[in-house]
Amino acid sequence: MEFINLKKQYITFQKEINEKIQKVLDEAQFIGGEEIQQFEEKLAEYIGRKYCISCGNGTDALELAFMALGVGDGDAVFCPDMTFIASIESACTLGATPIFCDIEKRTFNLSPSDLENKIVQVSKAGKLTPKVVVMVDFLGNPADIEVIQKICEKYNLLLIEDAAQAIGAVYNGQKCGSFGDISTTSFFPSKPLGCYGDGGAVFTDNQEIAECIKSLKVHGKGKSKYDNIRIGMNSRLDTIQAAVLQVKLKYLNNEIEIRQEKAEKYNKELMNYVDIPQITINSVSSYAQYVLLLKDVKNRNKLQNYLNERNIPSLVYYPKTLHSMKAFEKYKIEDNYPNSTVYSQCNVGIPFSAYITEMEQNKVIKSIIECITDGI
Ligand SMILES: *Cc1c(COP(=O)(O)O)cnc(C)c1O
Repeated sequence: MEFINLKKQYITFQKEINEKIQKVLDEAQFIGGEEIQQFEEKLAEYIGRKYCISCGNGTDALELAFMALGVGDGDAVFCPDMTFIASIESACTLGATPIFCDIEKRTFNLSPSDLENKIVQVSKAGKLTPKVVVMVDFLGNPADIEVIQKICEKYNLLLIEDAAQAIGAVYNGQKCGSFGDISTTSFFPSKPLGCYGDGGAVFTDNQEIAECIKSLKVHGKGKSKYDNIRIGMNSRLDTIQAAVLQVKLKYLNNEIEIRQEKAEKYNKELMNYVDIPQITINSVSSYAQYVLLLKDVKNRNKLQNYLNERNIPSLVYYPKTLHSMKAFEKYKIEDNYPNSTVYSQCNVGIPFSAYITEMEQNKVIKSIIECITDGI
């Protein structure tokens, strides 16, 4: 059994994907060109944003966003304590200080009340300037977006939506990737909209920010690539990847619908045995991962072994909180993060994709119930 069945997805769209890739090879346009432009336009329309700027990966997308917002020394950047390090990493490279906030117990997303606490704390301490909030649609589940937007307005902070896991997800009838001053995503193969290598994109409705990011991603170009007006970077989506993504984007909504049905089946059959994921109200999750919570770390490890013995893959998303990582040692973080800590010890992702079969799901469900009712 595959954890995420990318092989089956490829076989499903094989003919169309191969033709698209062949077209790029025939035209020998490997960087830039029509495929890139078309893909950016189609994705901007899908998401409901004025501008979509493709780039090398989701981490670059965030770095471009931080650079465009002028993040640097002395700035405080807030983000959830439970996310992939890339959500905050490049803000730190640019000299900002990360301020981690606890998550909500059941949606696993940034806790608005802890965010507000941390903003007030940082302001009172007076050493750093609160500047940007990064909200993450964790595991594809939309953040508590409206509440976080209000907090950003109240304290005059800029907002970035890290939608790396949430393309296809919906909040209040609006697509994830369309919120905040800037939103970003990743096309890493296992994400809800994945390519066949690395890729990413930045979204905004603000023309000035869009122009700045278009310049930053090409070495800070001015009128030309050889007339540079700022220090930037080199970050491009390959043309072949844009071709693959154009095909996959056409089928994304259909896949998101199927994911709802598959998640519903897991929910229904597992809810009496484990904590099933709770989706944010008025939202549709893209279910980048289907993650359960066990009672404690011992139960989680026992379940993983039990599944492993039956050739059922499982993965922990993620095993460590950000605040406890060596990478952030120098910030001397003293706060406690009870919810993200419990989450890191109890979570386990089980096989999931639009291509998982009913038989496979039944096997996973049966094994989990057996393991749980076996006295753990
Ligand atoms: C995957 C991911 C990223 C980074 O994307 P890459 O394309 O791997 O650089 C950033 N944030 C989150 C939440 C992610 O899941």
